[in-house]
Amino acid sequence: MDDRFERLRKKHRVPFDGRFSVTTAPTRPDRTPDESALKKKLRRLNRALYDLQRIQYADGRHALLLVFQAMDAAGKDSTIRTVLRGINPAGCRVVSFKQPSREELAHDFLWRCHKALPPRGTIGVFNRSYYEETLVVRVHPDYLRHQNLPGETGTDAFWQKRFEAIRNYERYLADNGTTILKFWLNVSREEQKNRFIARLRDPRKQWKFSPHDIAERQHWDRYMACYETVLNETSRPWAPWYAIPADNKPYMRVEVAKTIRKALEAMDLRYPAVDEAVAENIDGLVAELERS
Ligand code: ATP
Ligand code: MG
Repeated sequence: MDDRFERLRKKHRVPFDGRFSVTTAPTRPDRTPDESALKKKLRRLNRALYDLQRIQYADGRHALLLVFQAMDAAGKDSTIRTVLRGINPAGCRVVSFKQPSREELAHDFLWRCHKALPPRGTIGVFNRSYYEETLVVRVHPDYLRHQNLPGETGTDAFWQKRFEAIRNYERYLADNGTTILKFWLNVSREEQKNRFIARLRDPRKQWKFSPHDIAERQHWDRYMACYETVLNETSRPWAPWYAIPADNKPYMRVEVAKTIRKALEAMDLRYPAVDEAVAENIDGLVAELERS
């Protein structure tokens, strides 16, 4: 495996040895950060990401896949918006995965995401992903029935097979030029409640709230247990998970942006070589254009 993966960021990275614990993972930074300094930092990072993505596009050898998973109201949408603002839209695509359609349910669980993967030279963002198949589907095993799968489903062995499939799949993507970064935005239960209340009180955000969100909160502990398993089973050097404290949004955004910058830098991007006939005759070509 090439050293592209050794150069990825270590901060907040979920270890590869299965020792990650959600109960000790922080939901907020150690110290209360200076928010205006963080906002300035984010603007600098936006510019750096723009420059790097521009070369990534020209270079054309690497794709970057960013996977975002989190409980509701953790800030997936706003993190994607604020971290990736400034990037050339031609070099980036965001795809959101909601409840699967009938057609999607009739295929293997990676199918709909596979079709949405970023081509080399671009960044692809998954707002939710095939990981829902080991999270919401595990919390609500009823959903499995809609998938019409043969054999026994919902057993430990069944979930182990899904994790194995994901590990192999991500390894395959990594071997084929895709760098994968996975972000779990770790919001606390208390902060989620505050954000839901704020949503309900803000006319511009009320549409985002559904009574279903309250029902899902009742499953909080089950979700946390599932996240812990998922992160331990699928954080690997070629597709690491990052557990980002999400109670402070400016902090979270800067940490995500820094992790992405480091991954792009690790790709050792360069502009393609210029045609020799052009490189040797720049002045001549300029003169020819000026005469034309
Ligand atoms: P918002 O932050 O705006 O609420 P969202 O991503 O939560 O955005 P919703 O339309 O509220 O969007 O919810 C999408 C729902 O689809 C989530 O509850 C998610 O768990 C569910 N979902 C996604 N993938 C699957 C899947 N494979 N099987 C079942 N449910 C899924
Ligand atoms: Mg939602």
